[in-house]
Amino acid sequence: MLYEELATTYDRLESTSSRLEMTSILAEFFRSVDASELRQVVYLTQGKLNPDHVTEKLGMADKMILKAIVDASRLPESYVNDLWMKEGDLGAVAERVTSERVQTNLFSQPLTLERVIDNLRGIEGAEGKNSQTKRIRLLTSLLHDASPLESRYLCRTVTGRMRVGAAAMTILDALAASFGVKEDRQDIERAFNVSSDIGTVAESLARDGIKGVRGIEVQVGRPVRSMLAERLPSMEEILKKLGGRCALEYKYDGIRVQAHISGEGVKLYSRRLEDLTDNFPDVVESLLSSFKGQEAIVEGECVPVDLKTGRLLPFQEVAHRRRKFGMEEAVKEYPVKIFLFDCLKMDDDDLTLRPFPERRDAMERGLEEGEGLLFSRLEIVESAAEAEGFFESALVDGCEGIMAKSLAENSVYRTGNRGFLWIKYKKDYRGDLNDSFDLVVVGAYTGKGKRKGLYGALLMAVHDPESGAFQTVCKLGSGFDDVFLGELPGMLEQHRSSGPSHLLSTRMEADHWFEPAIVLEVMGAEVSVSPTHTAATGLLPEGSGLAVRFPRFTGKVRDDKSAEQATTAAELLNMYRGQTSVSDSEASAKF
Ligand code: ATP
Repeated sequence: MLYEELATTYDRLESTSSRLEMTSILAEFFRSVDASELRQVVYLTQGKLNPDHVTEKLGMADKMILKAIVDASRLPESYVNDLWMKEGDLGAVAERVTSERVQTNLFSQPLTLERVIDNLRGIEGAEGKNSQTKRIRLLTSLLHDASPLESRYLCRTVTGRMRVGAAAMTILDALAASFGVKEDRQDIERAFNVSSDIGTVAESLARDGIKGVRGIEVQVGRPVRSMLAERLPSMEEILKKLGGRCALEYKYDGIRVQAHISGEGVKLYSRRLEDLTDNFPDVVESLLSSFKGQEAIVEGECVPVDLKTGRLLPFQEVAHRRRKFGMEEAVKEYPVKIFLFDCLKMDDDDLTLRPFPERRDAMERGLEEGEGLLFSRLEIVESAAEAEGFFESALVDGCEGIMAKSLAENSVYRTGNRGFLWIKYKKDYRGDLNDSFDLVVVGAYTGKGKRKGLYGALLMAVHDPESGAFQTVCKLGSGFDDVFLGELPGMLEQHRSSGPSHLLSTRMEADHWFEPAIVLEVMGAEVSVSPTHTAATGLLPEGSGLAVRFPRFTGKVRDDKSAEQATTAAELLNMYRGQTSVSDSEASAKF
């Protein structure tokens, strides 16, 4: 297969923000791909060479990519540099330069997918003294033979910023349509959720049809996509939803990890499927010494603790354990404990489809509590009064609230889904607005006065998984301290784009635009209907959207969440409806 086919598909994807249109473009394309190449094609469509849980080492520094563009084009370095300053996107620079190339390459060979992958693997694997030169040479060789469009996407791929916006769910829809198994979409999604590997799903479908997909199982060493919680504003409603009786657990405020334990050791994965094993060697140690079986997958929250008093500390302390360097000191300075709350696999048993009490039981039998490892505190309740008591003790013990969990026969581990089998209840809910939001930075405004030379405010968005779009919801200018304001430009730089992202639906103007990537936690005073913001349009009457009023940054950068995992338009609408200041009749009269 020629790489040109892939590049043309990316270009078509980039010209639309409609998830439906993206699905049909991809479905048509997948039909033309051979089963032996589909796995790699799917990874590349997401701008990667590997499944989500394998740490991607493809990213080349911008300067190295520029060098390759100069070498391949033979244009003056200063000219290419100026273009980069103007465009801000190396893909656009490479495309322009390729179309202006000084001379056409006489011995140019069309790029095959195989050759592109070989060179990208070479770039990924380059190590040692000459690794930079080797990477530049491999990219130059591809650019030498690439068309302008191919150059754009080759450079985007090696920057690690593809920007075509094909989310996993869109790819799954396209695979289902392409192989004529739309009615089995749920099975395809489950296979993806239990394996976190869209390439394996695609290849199984292409080779063995839906039977192959159904055979994809939970496996130690391959993270399962996390089950997520819904929210409700009162304990009465929570109990009603869960049939009058439920389990309550402390909601610990730390970093969620999924631990895969086997004879080979322990691997820890974050909610974004990043490998966190090296960040928590103490947790690995605790798990190894407490586990009694052959292999298991368990989940828990790593929480910072004060070793002298035993008290749980604020989340910010554990954020230090996500750094890349100086881990030895961080382990000493910021000790953590893991509080386990679920078990997805125990020895040969896949427990994801078993009810919660059975999973909890398996966890308690398979592991032993110790100093660094505890089971989440749990109590079964049948009344709101009992629940409020448990909630109070959670707050006193330094937690952010409680998790209510269904005990019903159908209380399975709902992989990769947010649902009412788990319901969170946090201390913020006692204010007028229930809960904070995780919003995506999509734009910024140049600072004035005290913020001169920095960003003065950010344009924030929610995500709408139905349409695939990001929708603006507020301008965020408060809650920033000087350190954070100073760090912001660096944090956002690599996501800069020359205009609004093609995935963004906006009626707002901004001085700077970014691809959706950085997620910040924001508190607001109220959700209100807005003529200027686009959040939840489509779910609301024509022309209106929702806005968060008086937004304030809480200080938490949610780097455990991708942009697609931010607060959704539907969640925002639920919050709008759940506000105590919006009466039921007001909310339903409007919508
Ligand atoms: P939040 O910002 O409220 O943590 P979230 O979007 O990260 O939300 P949710 O599924 O909505 O995730 O809320 C549950 C989160 O709470 C889990 O992801 C996990 O990190 C954390 N947590 C803490 N204690 C528990 C517990 N006992 N059971 C389940 N999750 C828990």
